[in-house]
Amino acid sequence: MIFKSLHTAMLVLFFLVFSVINFYFFSLIKNTISPQEESMLENKEIEDYFRKRDHEKLKEYRGKLKKIQLTEEKEARKKLHFMHCPKCGAEMQIVKLEGIEVDKCSECIGIYFDNEELEKLLEIKFERRKTVFQKIFGLK
Ligand SMILES: [Zn+2]
Repeated sequence: MIFKSLHTAMLVLFFLVFSVINFYFFSLIKNTISPQEESMLENKEIEDYFRKRDHEKLKEYRGKLKKIQLTEEKEARKKLHFMHCPKCGAEMQIVKLEGIEVDKCSECIGIYFDNEELEKLLEIKFERRKTVFQKIFGLK
């Protein structure tokens, strides 16, 4: 006989039955989600969705706000410095130089050119010099 006494055999049997029952109930508990837990999981998914959406919106609004701030700063800078000398800060006056309007400082007498004004002035000077040489040397 495998078991020396009935007592040992009962103990082994009890242990086996207990293990099977235990395994069965634990597997039931493990695979079952209560409605509350299911609801919590759904709520978590919903919260994650809204958190992500809010984060994206916030990022978008911060970008827009930054653009607005940069535009306002640019406008404020322009308002503060427009037609003021970059060297001494005095007011600039518009004067005509060879028929081209340029900005001239009222304090330091510096002359500043807008886009392509210098090229136009040099072109006029070059054309004038060319005609002077043509007159002197009789070229045409
Ligand atoms: Zn100046």
